[in-house]
Amino acid sequence: MSPTDDALLAVSGLRKSFGENEVLHSIDLEVRRGEVVVLIGPSGSGKTTVLRSLNGLETPDAGVVAFAHGPSVDFSQPVSKAERDSLRNRSAMVFQQHNLFPHRTVLENVIEGPVQVQRVRRADAVSQAEALLERVGLAEKRDAYPHELSGGQQQRVGIVRALALKPDLLLFDEPTSALDPELVGDVLGVMKGLADEGWTMVVVTHELSFARQVADEVLFMDGGVIVERGAPAQLFTAPTHERTRKFLDRIL
Ligand code: ADP
Repeated sequence: MSPTDDALLAVSGLRKSFGENEVLHSIDLEVRRGEVVVLIGPSGSGKTTVLRSLNGLETPDAGVVAFAHGPSVDFSQPVSKAERDSLRNRSAMVFQQHNLFPHRTVLENVIEGPVQVQRVRRADAVSQAEALLERVGLAEKRDAYPHELSGGQQQRVGIVRALALKPDLLLFDEPTSALDPELVGDVLGVMKGLADEGWTMVVVTHELSFARQVADEVLFMDGGVIVERGAPAQLFTAPTHERTRKFLDRIL
């Protein structure tokens, strides 16, 4: 399967087991360029495993992950390191915990990927990093260490670090769930700005107001399957499945 004309990513038949436990049963999804897809669902439903599979951090047992203009990786066959790397290069992940290197400054954290992995000239990586930090309001924190920043600022650096890789697709795995409530808005604000600029994003979150405002499509997962998908206005106000209704009743 290859992505349709305006699709950036097409995933079909994705399966993953951990031991005897099949956690993804057969996941199909398509993400168009510039689209924001939000994955919601109860804890343990498989949302993180989907994200990690898109980024090559997890190896599915079967299924195809295909980006426009390649790569297309079929996990039913043995997958080479080169294929996995080519998948990894198309997207960048923002984690629940920012995962910054504690003994490196903000700037060093941001340029690490471009310089070490992508072989960008250091001077170019630095000027690009400065511009990105400026954009999220952290220019003056360039030489600070992660522990000198608030959780929200650390997470904004995490986002800048992903942007610095210039990926086609941004993946967010519950980016605000480890933050104090008063810091959540900052990070969601940055994410909303990225969506407005046309970044293509797949976001796992429990922030339904963000999903309502920003998502083009919401996917509800439960028990390793996508139970229901639709525009937020439809899915949140008139879900067609009982499982979706019950989940929304619990968290709304
Ligand atoms: P969610 O993101 O929806 O909370 P996950 O994708 O993290 O769900 O997890 C789905 C299921 O897979 C859970 O039952 C979880 O315990 C299991 N799981 C995830 N990662 C591993 C792992 N590395 N080893 C064993 N089980 C795992």
